Order: sequence, then structure tokens, then C-alpha cells
Amino acid sequence: MHSTGKSDKKKLIIVGGGAVGLAVATSVKRHGNYDITIFSSDSHAAYSQCGMPFVISGEIKDFQSLILRKKDFFREMGIDLRLNTTVKSLDLEKRTVVTKGEKHHFDKLVIATGGRSAVPDNLKPKDDLKNVFTLRTLEDGMKIDKALESAKNVVIIGGGGIGVEIAIASAKKGVKTLLINRGSSLLSHNIDPDMADIVQEHLESMGVNVITGEAPRALNGEDIVKSVTISEEEFPADTVIISTGTDPEIKLASDAGIEIGITGGIITNEYLQAKTDRGYDQDVYCGGECVQLQNLVTGTPMISQLASTARRMAGVIRNNLVSKPTPFGPIVNPWVGAIGELQVGTVGITSKEAKKHGIDIVSGLATGTTRAGYFPGSTRIFIKLLFSNRILVGAQVIGGEGVKERIDGLSLAIRKKTTLDELLNLETCYTPPLSMLVDPLTFAAQGAHKKIPGSKK
Ligand SMILES: Cc1cc2nc3c(=O)[nH]c(=O)nc-3n(C[C@H](O)[C@H](O)[C@H](O)COP(=O)(O)OP(=O)(O)OC[C@H]3O[C@@H](n4cnc5c(N)ncnc54)[C@H](O)[C@@H]3O)c2cc1C
Repeated sequence: MHSTGKSDKKKLIIVGGGAVGLAVATSVKRHGNYDITIFSSDSHAAYSQCGMPFVISGEIKDFQSLILRKKDFFREMGIDLRLNTTVKSLDLEKRTVVTKGEKHHFDKLVIATGGRSAVPDNLKPKDDLKNVFTLRTLEDGMKIDKALESAKNVVIIGGGGIGVEIAIASAKKGVKTLLINRGSSLLSHNIDPDMADIVQEHLESMGVNVITGEAPRALNGEDIVKSVTISEEEFPADTVIISTGTDPEIKLASDAGIEIGITGGIITNEYLQAKTDRGYDQDVYCGGECVQLQNLVTGTPMISQLASTARRMAGVIRNNLVSKPTPFGPIVNPWVGAIGELQVGTVGITSKEAKKHGIDIVSGLATGTTRAGYFPGSTRIFIKLLFSNRILVGAQVIGGEGVKERIDGLSLAIRKKTTLDELLNLETCYTPPLSMLVDPLTFAAQGAHKKIPGSKK
């Protein structure tokens, strides 16, 4: 539809120029009738955060390659993208946001402020301690990459998804790399300890020294970091990367009276509209890592720290902004990581989460190969399935290939409350270059079946 002039357009302000903010802006521009302004604290426009570990590892040639859209793209689309511009406050009654002393009116607002690296107090470096990094923005990535050029001893603190990807990247550069994880197993939010052992072995085979079950006590050094204290021992470090998790960036929303849930994320209704003491605000949407969602399996609140969830939320916000009311339901949060030669994926809940929520589970773990054993390029694959009352509630897959596809299929299976019996009868396809004759998924289901008392073998 052709616009009849500026006055008939509503003003949409988006706070945050990341995965949610930019996707909402570009698709609303195509489908809606809004004047759109995006405020972003970041110095760069659309880039792939997820790609940064692979620039550092050398698989992607430079950070420029991660820039998906330049600022001009948004200008040409008629979107006013203001980089390096932090929104200082919101006034939901007056319908304004404040930046650098300027006030901007909105009719509709999207809060997509993402998350910020959470650093334990004892590891917060003094301002003058150089070469201590976190990884969130493109600028962070560039600084880490530069430091690694001359690094001799890198210590990575935190064995979550980003920590392990960076550990591999550092080791691939030939730098002596130590990964320290407070929990007794790596990737403890994603996979069970038995699966994590496979990842740890792989990291070690790639030259990463791994210490688990220890939290560093202090970072030492005068001008530049020199060492990290773990227990009573000092480990040399000229570069430290702290990857101990992410907190939702909610101060702006919270200061404006928007309610925050027990996970630390913003509370919304199913249309992703923010909750205030006056109820849900029909004009204020929130999406991405700053929002509290619901776990489909446990029914409990959670935060999804995934670009894939952020992008789906952006689509829902877009629909709601262009008068196609669309709910965003509970999630099973499928995740996949590329850790050296391994692909590691998970969906639904882990055994640890099941225990936390009092859910009794039975699991089946199978190993197999990703192609016929004789076929060149075949790698091992490990599949673990978790059932509660014979219903699939979690799946973890590790292999050299074929992981993402399985996780996506299992994501649907969990969502559809697929039973163990249905998985035992699953029809799977076969050709030697792509699979075993019987998919290891079937063996994992059989493994769980055998553990259930009274099951026919
Ligand atoms: C190294 C790394 C690797 C990752 N790998 C993967 C992966 O493989 N797969 C996957 O699914 N996910 C991955 N993620 C996670 C994914 O990138 C995030 O979940 C996703 O970007 C979240 O989108 P968002 O829009 O909520 O937040 P972001 O993309 O972080 O955007 C938030 C934006 O808000 C801005 N902002 C915050 N406060 C203000 C303010 N007051 N005023 C103005 N602007 C503000 C920030 O500057 C930023 O631009 C990775 C993340 C990192 C850091």
C-alpha cells in the first residue's frame, strides 16, 4: 500500500539492534505502516554473534565477513538505525524513550536489549588489568582475536557453549589453552555428564587442557593479567576469556516499571507484551534474551539464549505489530554447537533438569556410525534419549555429522509428546553414504525400553 504521508504512520521505536531488533524492523517495514527507529548501544549493525568463534579459529577469514547488513541497508529501507546510542530511560505513561538527553515519542515500542556477560565478582578485573575479555559484541571478538595473535597462555573460564567453542578456536591457533569449568562436567546446561565426557575427551585431543569442578579464585597481574589462581595454584595466563554465562539486560525495562520474573527476564503475555502494574501493555513488546519464556516440558520459566529463538520471537512480534495476533508458546530450546570435529546438540530437558523438577526419567544411550561402517568419512555418533512416563522429554546427540537434522526432528517429537513405543517403531531411511541400516536412534529407544521394568524385550 502506498503511504499517504508521514502523518498516517505510527512511530515504532525498537531498543536493541541485535537478532530481534533488526529482524522486527526489516520485516515490519515490509509488512506494516510504521516510521521505525532503532536505537542500539552497539557500534556495528547486523552481524552474526554466533559466527565470532569461527573467525577466531580461522575458519572464517575476518570479522567483516560476519557483517550481514551495513548501516546503509537500513537507511535505504527507510529505517532510522542509530548505532552507539544507548536508551537511558523509558516513560511508559508519556510514551517516550530518552537517549543522550533527547526524548523520542513512540506509539509502539519493542524492547530487545538482549543479554550481558555475567562475570563473578571475584573475577571482575580491576579497570587497569589488560587482556581480560568477555565475548558478546563484534568489538569484543576483534579484541580477543588480536590478543590471541601474540598470546602464549590463554585461560578460558566457563565451559558452556561459548567457552568450549572459544577453547577450540584458541587451541587451533596453536596457543596453550586451559579451560576451567566450575561444574564437574562441561556444557552442564546442555548435556548430561556421560555425554560431556565425550566432548571433554575431544577438547583434550585437540590440545585443550581442561579442569572441571574448580572455580578460579582470582585473576592476578599489575598492568596486564599474569596468572589465574585455581585452588592454591597459580596458572600462567597472558589472556583470559571469561565465559561464565549471560544475564538478561533488563535494567531499562525494570526501571520503567515492567515486571521481571524469577529467571531475571522480562515477564510478558503470550503475545510478548510487557507486564506492568496496570496489566499487559498492548503497545510494548519484548523479545529475545531479555525475556522470560516457558519450558514446554517442565512448565517452568526459563530464558532462551539462542539466536534461533530470538528470530522466532521477532516473527511473532512482527505479526502482532501488523495486526496478525500470534502467540509465542512454550519452548523446547533446541541447541547445536560445533566443537572442533564434533557436532553437539540437545533439545528438551537434561537429566539434571529432570531431577531439579522432580521428573523421573528413563534414558537410553546408543552409539553407532553416521554412514555405513565401510563408507569413507563415517564418524561415530552418540544418541541419548530421555523419557518420562514413556514420553520423550529430552535428547542429546554428539557426532561428526548428522546432528542438527536429528535434533530438529527430535524437537518436533518432544513437542508432539512422542511416546517410546512410537520411537521404537520409527521408520528411518538408509543409504550407505548417509546412515547405518538401522538408525542409532532406534537403538537408543530400545536401550530405554529395556530399562523399564516389565517391558517386553
Ligand atoms: C559468541 C556467541 C556465540 C553464539 N552462538 C550461537 C549459536 O551458535 N546459536 C544460537 O542460536 N545462538 C548463539 N548465540 C546467542 C545469540 O547470538 C543470541 O541469543 C541472540 O543474539 C539474542 O538476540 P537478542 O536480540 O535478544 O540480543 P542481541 O542480539 O544481543 O541484541 C541486543 C542489542 O541490544 C542493544 N542494547 C542493549 N541495551 C540497550 C540500550 N539500553 N539502548 C540501546 N541498545 C541497547 C545491544 O547493544 C544489542 O545490539 C551466540 C552468542 C554469542 C555471544
